[in-house]
Amino acid sequence: MRAAIIGGGMGGLAAANALRRHGLDVTVFEQAAALGEVGAGVFIYPNSLRQLERMGFGEALARVGGHVGPGSHYNRKDGSYVGDVLTTDSSGWNGMYGMHRADILDALAAALPSEAVRTGHRAVDFSQDADKATVRFANGESFEAEVVIGADGINSAMQPFVVEPSLPEYSGFRAYRGLIARDKLGAWPDRTHQIWMGDGKHFMVFPVRGGALLNYVGFVPTPHETLESWSALGDRDELAASFEGWDPRVTDLLSKVESCYWWGLFDRQPLRTWVNGRLTLLGDAAHPMLPHLGQGVNQAIEDAVALGVLLEGRGVDEVPAMLRAYEALRRPRTSMIQAEARQNGKRYDSDYESIEQRDEEIRKTAIAFRKGLYDYDIEAAARAVRMQ
Ligand SMILES: Cc1cc2nc3c(=O)[nH]c(=O)nc-3n(C[C@H](O)[C@H](O)[C@H](O)COP(=O)(O)OP(=O)(O)OC[C@H]3O[C@@H](n4cnc5c(N)ncnc54)[C@H](O)[C@@H]3O)c2cc1C
Repeated sequence: MRAAIIGGGMGGLAAANALRRHGLDVTVFEQAAALGEVGAGVFIYPNSLRQLERMGFGEALARVGGHVGPGSHYNRKDGSYVGDVLTTDSSGWNGMYGMHRADILDALAAALPSEAVRTGHRAVDFSQDADKATVRFANGESFEAEVVIGADGINSAMQPFVVEPSLPEYSGFRAYRGLIARDKLGAWPDRTHQIWMGDGKHFMVFPVRGGALLNYVGFVPTPHETLESWSALGDRDELAASFEGWDPRVTDLLSKVESCYWWGLFDRQPLRTWVNGRLTLLGDAAHPMLPHLGQGVNQAIEDAVALGVLLEGRGVDEVPAMLRAYEALRRPRTSMIQAEARQNGKRYDSDYESIEQRDEEIRKTAIAFRKGLYDYDIEAAARAVRMQ
């Protein structure tokens, strides 16, 4: 069975590895001339790390990740302690890394044969008949496959061939983000994730690249719509001014920032459906979410594993039914996480009647909700669907 994956981001490359593991013949088509260096830190949580380890990426990720463990805290803006950030699943397994996006992409790409990834291919058109699907590219080429996966991100070109897109709504927030060398700072709680909250905004820091770099993100309300871009340069002075007077650990870090990026946060309602015949969507193309649970890439990896398990050993005629099974399995969980990510952002940033009430809610969801998130095993869930 031939699979065409449109998009060579983390979701697309995870899907390529997962589908090859389950015996499919996979080709990835990426619009960019090379697989990207663009981006900063993302979190890999236990729910997707356990899948990546099974796929053989444990060592590679341990080498380039920033392991995060005890001492990870939610803090008030002055640095006083609110609660612990959960960094384990219920079994106590500490499977949590801050990762540079480029490092995960490198690890996922290195496991694929070079001919399986074709860069410089921007998908522009899709059609299908009873036996196969055809994708056409802006460079004039086309490709036939029995299954096509649109892993082409938030502005997916494949999405309109599945369903009417759900429109982006500006969340009213801009995220300033960037990387800073660890050795530029003095005392710092290494190997931890720190979050500070107050005044309707929040700031977070976690390590990437084995702890040599720290990834920081400041979430700041602004009525001015900011581009939903991963490469737009932000204003470091504005960022520093937004957190003036906060915990000295925050202000000291910000005083050393030389440049940063900003990214407008947009929200979307879940799509009505993810499947049209032999075409389905994965990752941000299917379920873009606000970053307040850090689950975007993790859910894309779960999607990838589900598709691999469900498509293994299936005949060409069975593809549409298996894609519908994939959607039925994945949509409830990702829709719930989309909604909870929105809610968690409100928890971090909104006006509570009392700060104690906010802190209590943070502590409650930090443990109970996240345990369910991290304990979930998508491979087992997809195998259970196959047994039905
Ligand atoms: C450049 C970039 C930088 C990012 N940086 C961060 C970050 O710093 N922190 C963070 O938390 N998240 C970041 N993200 C988002 C994060 O990667 C995604 O939320 C998550 O990994 C889900 O991945 P995805 O594969 O579904 O989508 P994406 O990672 O967005 O990947 C989609 C891929 O599809 C390609 N593509 C798009 N349209 C077409 C087309 N028509 N034909 C062929 N290929 C196409 C894109 O070039 C891209 O490589 C970034 C995304 C991008 C694209």
